[in-house]
Amino acid sequence: MSLISPWRAAFPGILALEAEGQTYLDSAATAQKPQAVLDSLLGYLASGAANVHRAQHLPGERATRAFEGTRDKAAAWLNAASRDEIVFTRGSTEALNLLAYGLEHLLQPGDELVVSALEHHANLLPWQQLALRRGLKLVVLPLDVTGSIDQARSAELIGPRTRLLAVAQLSNVLGRWQPLRELLALARSLGALSVVDGAQGAVHGRHDMQALGCDFYVCSAHKLYGPDGVGLLYGRGEALAQLRHWQFGGEMVLDADYQDARFRPAPLGFEAGTPPVSGVIALGAALDWLAGLDQAAVAGHEAALHAKLLAGLGLRDGVRLLGAPQLALASFCVDGVHNADLAHLLTEQGIAVRAGHHCAMPLMKGLGLSGAIRVSLGLYNDGADLDRFFDALDQALELLR
Ligand code: PLP
Repeated sequence: MSLISPWRAAFPGILALEAEGQTYLDSAATAQKPQAVLDSLLGYLASGAANVHRAQHLPGERATRAFEGTRDKAAAWLNAASRDEIVFTRGSTEALNLLAYGLEHLLQPGDELVVSALEHHANLLPWQQLALRRGLKLVVLPLDVTGSIDQARSAELIGPRTRLLAVAQLSNVLGRWQPLRELLALARSLGALSVVDGAQGAVHGRHDMQALGCDFYVCSAHKLYGPDGVGLLYGRGEALAQLRHWQFGGEMVLDADYQDARFRPAPLGFEAGTPPVSGVIALGAALDWLAGLDQAAVAGHEAALHAKLLAGLGLRDGVRLLGAPQLALASFCVDGVHNADLAHLLTEQGIAVRAGHHCAMPLMKGLGLSGAIRVSLGLYNDGADLDRFFDALDQALELLR
């Protein structure tokens, strides 16, 4: 099957890399950007930059309108109940840190925070450090052999002391949708707060926050074909209202004296300082661009590419997949070959894949691995990208074995 992406030509970055002899297969780390996003970034910067929310002049009013326009688009994208449920952050990591600080006052020593064994450091370390600061217990949900959070064990581990559940929607290492519906229902039935790390999940399909039923959801624009330095924090209205302010300065203040101050509610109360104005505006362009695509065609292309990736890996002796990935990526190691050596030889052949612990060191340790190679796909990848990857893999393995 030829597997040609009809969207490839819209991505100048992927074409430039191709002209340089590079095959980009690292979209789970960051995605290339469509021309519409580049146009938006340049359009804003070239037509007169201005700060938002604080200037009454024309450029300021124009920037604020575009910036707040992205809030409307993000609320629609996620089907939030209100635009005020969308907070702009600098990425998923910052959004998760915001939550770990903003919810701290609700927790008492002995309370339990629940994460899973597959979390990215961004959704582990803020909770781990919160647990250490506050004398909480961090409970880790185990996985089954496929790389899904084990539901039966979770039902035993999530209990009356659970105050918060924080889990990934789609693993950045194992490529599996996690059983959110069941886990979130369990957390809700116990009155625990829930946080979903959607950094990978948000890229594949549109997710309806009201149907999902979590309290908080985070994602990063740069993985969603948008600019870097921008993230989204969705918070259900009542859950957002429980957050304490965590960063101070700028327009997040309602009234200030030398000795005291009062702060705005969400969203502006959690957007201290000058936000990434150009990035937020360009995220709006990314969402518009994505909304204009035939979602079924994108899903079909991604599924076909993924099937080709799994089939090719399955044909090679000694290649061991981590878990049973369902979409978007596959991580693997090769018996008797160090992942860093393999990564080096792939790099030399112009193949841009990721090697190492993928910001999930505890998961790697649990699997008894020092690292793995991850191939991840974007909607601009063609079957030919995978053909080049497999040729390079075969060459590398011939040298290494
Ligand atoms: N969570 C997951 C599952 C991720 O894959 C990543 C990034 O790789 C993050 C969180 C952190 O995202 P960012 O670096 O954009 O803050």
